[in-house]
Amino acid sequence: MTRDETKKSEVDYDVIVVGGGPAGLTAVLYASRGGLKTLMLEKATPGGLAQTTDIIENYPGFPDGISGPELMESMEKQARRFGAEFKNINEVVAIEKANETIFSVKTSDNTITSKSVIIATGAEPRKIGIPGESKYTGRGVSYCAVCDGAFFKDADVAVIGGGNSAVEEALFLTKFAKKISLIHRRDRLRADNVIVERAKKDPKIEFIWDTVVEEVIGDVKGVSSLKLKNIKTEQAEQLTVEGVFVYIGYKPNTGFLDGFLELDKGGFIVTDGEMNTNVSGIMACGDVRSKALKQIVTATGEGATAAFSAEKYIDKLENREYGEFKK
Ligand code: NAP
Repeated sequence: MTRDETKKSEVDYDVIVVGGGPAGLTAVLYASRGGLKTLMLEKATPGGLAQTTDIIENYPGFPDGISGPELMESMEKQARRFGAEFKNINEVVAIEKANETIFSVKTSDNTITSKSVIIATGAEPRKIGIPGESKYTGRGVSYCAVCDGAFFKDADVAVIGGGNSAVEEALFLTKFAKKISLIHRRDRLRADNVIVERAKKDPKIEFIWDTVVEEVIGDVKGVSSLKLKNIKTEQAEQLTVEGVFVYIGYKPNTGFLDGFLELDKGGFIVTDGEMNTNVSGIMACGDVRSKALKQIVTATGEGATAAFSAEKYIDKLENREYGEFKK
């Protein structure tokens, strides 16, 4: 079967890409430009978590940096250029094998079939799991400084975490807040030096080391303080803040895969260097993958590789490994 014949066959698509962040959008761009009949399934507006980043300074080609929404808008526009279909869905609930060569992607609305699937569902912010956290989410507790930072003009806020996200977002919050207490459970950060140095020099940012937050305290107006504990001295303290931004890492959106694919112990998808999972015909890319470096630039490279692998997989499946031309 040639790719053009997919339309007439019993299978809906050559490739379904699940998740519209940088990895998924790049996979769509490469797959559709490569002539595959491609569908992008996305929960909300394409762009993923990168949409919630104020300024991206380490994506090549933008010497002065670029805002997350602007970069993602351009990526989406480019991904749509080569004829891929985009569909908003509530969620993908399962991926199953319809038969030896066709996968069924079950969404909350319907079931769609495809010869291959690229999973680019990313990851979502982790919660600390302390009293008051859920109760005050949206009323002072936030997981997105870009979305909620402006509500805290001239206020005292806290950021929890010690990675790149915590430090970057603490720096972002200096635009609005009067003081930002960066609370970390260790005496050193794991964030990149370049931003750590910037944060250390910022008079609005104060570091609270070796400390965990045990409770978010509030009243009818929202968050009013945090109950802290220094893990070295065991000393307890109450910190008055109106807002708290939690940046303690991400958990992968892989719940719907439930035993279908190999995951690592953190729930991230295990792939080889070509983005193939342990199920032939299913590829994964971006933050949902088990890997060390979670960046937009790695996500886009992986999206391109996943689309290339999907194309190779379909060619093999349909005996087109050596092209369609004979002497
Ligand atoms: P991360 O690097 O995994 O850091 C999470 C931080 O939260 C760590 O400092 C960790 O402490 C702390 N933490 C974890 N669980 C905690 C808990 N229960 N209570 C208190 N603290 C807790 O996560 P991230 O900063 O969100 O970054 C995720 C990935 O995206 C990383 O690979 C990062 O480099 C990348 N990223 C890159 C950029 C950029 O390059 N511009 C920006 C944002 C994110 P410990 O240190 O003690 O483990």
